[in-house]
Amino acid sequence: MSIPIRVLIVEDSEDDAMLLVQELRREGYDPTYERVDTPEAMTAALDRQTWEIVFCDYTMPHYSGTSALKLLRARDPDIPFIFVSGTIGEDAAVEAMKNGANDYIMKDNLKRLIPAIKRELREAEMRRSHALAEETIQHMAFYDTLTGLPNRNMLYDRLLNAIRTGGDKGRPMALLLMDLDHFKEINDTLGHHRGDVLLQQVGSRLQGALRPTDIVARLGGDEFAVMLPLSGSGDAALVAKKIQKALELPFMIEGLPVAVEFSIGVALYPDHGANPDSLMQRADVAMYAAKTTGEGYLLYEARHDRHSPRRLALIGELRWAIERSQLLLHYQPKISLKTGRVIGMEALVRWQHPEHGFIPPDQFIEPAERTGLIKPLTRWVFDTAQKQCLTWHRAGYEFTTSINLSARNLHDTQLPDELAGLLRECGGRPDRLQLEITETAIMADPARALEAITRLRAIGIRFSIDDFGTGYSSLGYLKKLPVDEIKIDRSFVINMAKDPSDVMIVRSTIDLAHNLGLKVVAEGVENKETYDRLGKLGCDAAQGYYMARPMPAENLTRWLAESPWGLNLR
Ligand code: C2E
Ligand code: CA
Ligand code: CA
Repeated sequence: MSIPIRVLIVEDSEDDAMLLVQELRREGYDPTYERVDTPEAMTAALDRQTWEIVFCDYTMPHYSGTSALKLLRARDPDIPFIFVSGTIGEDAAVEAMKNGANDYIMKDNLKRLIPAIKRELREAEMRRSHALAEETIQHMAFYDTLTGLPNRNMLYDRLLNAIRTGGDKGRPMALLLMDLDHFKEINDTLGHHRGDVLLQQVGSRLQGALRPTDIVARLGGDEFAVMLPLSGSGDAALVAKKIQKALELPFMIEGLPVAVEFSIGVALYPDHGANPDSLMQRADVAMYAAKTTGEGYLLYEARHDRHSPRRLALIGELRWAIERSQLLLHYQPKISLKTGRVIGMEALVRWQHPEHGFIPPDQFIEPAERTGLIKPLTRWVFDTAQKQCLTWHRAGYEFTTSINLSARNLHDTQLPDELAGLLRECGGRPDRLQLEITETAIMADPARALEAITRLRAIGIRFSIDDFGTGYSSLGYLKKLPVDEIKIDRSFVINMAKDPSDVMIVRSTIDLAHNLGLKVVAEGVENKETYDRLGKLGCDAAQGYYMARPMPAENLTRWLAESPWGLNLR
């Protein structure tokens, strides 16, 4: 079986071109080739089809190799270009490589030809897949995969841009936040798939109802946002009515009419906030007020702030909870996909509230961040987890323990010293600990993140980037961070068994991370298919309900002894 290859030969001598072609055929290639020896002919050949590789003589009567190289590189930086020449001198050759030639081969030494081709084709392929992966990840960072709409990052960027370029006068604009009423019930009744279809239809109706210059974004779940320039103060109300009108008619989901209602909250720039965060927060407060009053649509007013309810009451109790040890840690194993054994445990905090029962971290981490309580909370988590880690090591388990840090922790300049102190007190080993920090937290203040990570790294603690794929992925920046691992966000992993586009995202993330020398953990592995698939994709480790849910340390002792992923110490 010969290997097809498309070769463009820039060469004045038909005989020399034939020699090349024969050499290719002898080595098992089946070349489709064309010989050209003028710029016009070369341009025409490049227009006619794509070539996999270009060979070029250095000196020709009507054309110079250097010009041919320039002509090619102006059109395509990636196609391998190899000089094949009888005359090229060492200096000229070096110069040619500098200008973008991939290699040069002497006509009387064609032995080097085939290895050079193989290498160049392989490298061109790697450049292509690398570029593709970068593109996918860039896209992922700014667009919502379900609806194709801009995501929260993109919206944030646009808001910031509009505010910055609006100048001092501050060109007015409105931010509308909306979410579907009772989406959870709808989702549970219709099933997730139909819920997704509904969200897609909502997205396209919104876009259809608005001007192309207005930005419609999906923020996640059933939350959408619209950002629009204002010309008069009544504009925002008009738009909100237009949106309500557009969503009034029932949606047809697999032939079934589904009616949905929305609550819309509006905040105006510059009246209600001077930056994206405060605008978002106030639109959110207005939306919440719209929901509780059943108003459908509300413009932010200061009195709405009072309505932001239970969350605030809880904060008062959180300080107490930390002191009275109402907090506890569950641990979730991390499994190596190479050995099929546990290699780490992630500590996840819970709040055992005397009245409200079990409160998940999603409900108190964020308020703890806003109020500064995150500091004592993190200190408690770190201390408790590292002691547990030590207990496991004394029992003979070699795995690492991971602790989650939040964005605010990075602002805490005392943290590295404090953590080092806690470790010293108990004689814990820093290299057995790993800190997880979300991509979003890092990108919120990259300079500070780099500093904090570098200082903690210096103690010997390793880092992992959490929820990868949901934040700004400035890859150039990631390369600079002294991190060891990324964790692909569970939103991409959960549907892998059903959704090929998620597989594609996961695959490119793995390839890219490996190219940067990082290990990859997939979280949210809920079934065997996904587990097996990840192994085949070369992913290093996995976490998820399929192998183990987060559980108290006591229960893990049993899990370690009995689970197929556990470790038998005897
Ligand atoms: P995370 O760091 O991404 O943690 C993983 C979350 O995914 C956990 O939720 C875990 O229970 C859940 N999970 C694990 N496997 C699966 C699966 O197969 N399917 C699904 N659907 N979910 C899975 P949890 O414990 O509710 O924690 C939520 C978030 O709260 C964490 O997300 C983390 O960002 C934060 N968090 C938890 N503990 C701490 C902490 O001590 N400090 C800080 N700063 N944040 C914490
Ligand atoms: Ca985590
Ligand atoms: Ca995560």
